[in-house]
Amino acid sequence: MNREELNAYNRKRYHERIEYERARREKYYKAHREEKLAYAREYHKLHPDVKRRSQNKIRDANREVYREDSRKREAKRVRCTIGRYDHSPQCTARWKFREAIEHGRIIRPSECSCCHHKGRIHGHHIDYDKPYEVIWLCSICHGKIHRLPN
Ligand SMILES: [Zn+2]
Ligand SMILES: [Zn+2]
Repeated sequence: MNREELNAYNRKRYHERIEYERARREKYYKAHREEKLAYAREYHKLHPDVKRRSQNKIRDANREVYREDSRKREAKRVRCTIGRYDHSPQCTARWKFREAIEHGRIIRPSECSCCHHKGRIHGHHIDYDKPYEVIWLCSICHGKIHRLPN
């Protein structure tokens, strides 16, 4: 074999090897799928923060996609809650807050106080008894704060 042939041969061997490993992994995964899923479920139950951290990582990597999702969800939520005011502290606080924004008593900043993203900024209530005290956050940081362990 000359050099060219040898290289081609090695490349072929290499790809065959990769293909073989992949097939083997797939077969193994298929055979132990339920077992693995059960293990993962158990693991995440024991370590809730691990899942949260990995979800946050995914969210950070795909911020724009998640922003769009969150905007759609918010629009849907508003559509669904019109005419469904239930007098809970949460509802009252949101209503008072929204009214204050509409009347210009509260100015919505244009920047997230956490990551300084410019765009749609939410007011996050720390205490629903204080409807005018909020933290200003973008949709990503806002989601994160709600997923924090209490
Ligand atoms: Zn942010
Ligand atoms: Zn919030």
